[in-house]
Amino acid sequence: MVKVFVVFMALFCLGGGGLSAASETAKPVRVVLVPYRGPVYNIFFHPLIYDPRQAFEPSPKKVFMDEWFITVDEFKKTLHSLYQRGYILVRPRQFYQQDAHGHWFQKPVDLPRGKKPLILSEDDVNYYPTMRTHGVISRLWVDPLGRLAGVLDEPDGTSRVVYHAEVPQILEDFIQAHPDFSFEGARGMINETGYYGAFGYPDVGKKAFDHDANVYEAKRVAAKLKQMGWEFASHSYDHEFLWQEPDGGPFEKAERKWMAEIGPIVGPTPYYVFPFGDQWFKDKKRMDFLNSLGFKYYFSVDNHASVLRTDGDIVLGRVAVDGRSLRLRAHSLKIFLNARAILDPRRSRGIHYSWN
Ligand SMILES: [Zn+2]
Repeated sequence: MVKVFVVFMALFCLGGGGLSAASETAKPVRVVLVPYRGPVYNIFFHPLIYDPRQAFEPSPKKVFMDEWFITVDEFKKTLHSLYQRGYILVRPRQFYQQDAHGHWFQKPVDLPRGKKPLILSEDDVNYYPTMRTHGVISRLWVDPLGRLAGVLDEPDGTSRVVYHAEVPQILEDFIQAHPDFSFEGARGMINETGYYGAFGYPDVGKKAFDHDANVYEAKRVAAKLKQMGWEFASHSYDHEFLWQEPDGGPFEKAERKWMAEIGPIVGPTPYYVFPFGDQWFKDKKRMDFLNSLGFKYYFSVDNHASVLRTDGDIVLGRVAVDGRSLRLRAHSLKIFLNARAILDPRRSRGIHYSWN
């Protein structure tokens, strides 16, 4: 059966050879909904480079920044490309569910005709010291007017508040202009580790003098993101490979710390994102333990949107959108974007990663 619902879409006026500001007018548009049974696409980003000068200037971290991050301009172009190609943001649990026997299945969801569902996520929204000194904001912050802000540290030791620097801020602007890029209010998943706190507040888990203030600010950020439609995932406490943190004691102790320190900030979540896309699903003991903490949906890294059902678990493969994939894996991105058209000209030409 075909369903129809009505959405209000901001109208754009074309002028001066390009898109100009959205007009005030909103007009109802009839959208035909049809059951969708095809693949659910899945991509992820890291925090964005707001100041490419800081990221790409000669420094020991220059290659690291080039490899794993994209700039604000690249992210904006990516959103336009995704939208033009008919993607629409969805939440994992809208599509993947378990039957009474615990078997995972993909539920047919009524989507606007022609749209392709996309799960978007952002990893390591913790603003580690490696990022915050290289053109990435150092923390998210809810300003006195209740807006989601970012705080950028400048090399001269000063800081400033920025509003168009990070994935949730820019995505929000984009959805304001293109409401049909989001299905039922979906945004994406924000994936937090624990060892450096949350959202740029490193002391949420430490007995530090500013612990309470850190927890207070981090909770405000989480509440704001949730209100905007974001969901959260654990990205492990320590962000280590399987072999670096063996099963049993050390791993379980660390994960319990995530539940105790980050859990109260972001709230309960069934989503877990393996660090480095490591293949933890092959380790039954580890998976049993993570399941016992309440996680159900696992995410890895892949070159396409894979779905793996293994021993009661579901593992969704995500495609990375970063400097490495833009430069070296344009083919795995080509259903989403044209890497050559996206790549920021402010990146260096001759970059050599340690492995290709
Ligand atoms: Zn990560």
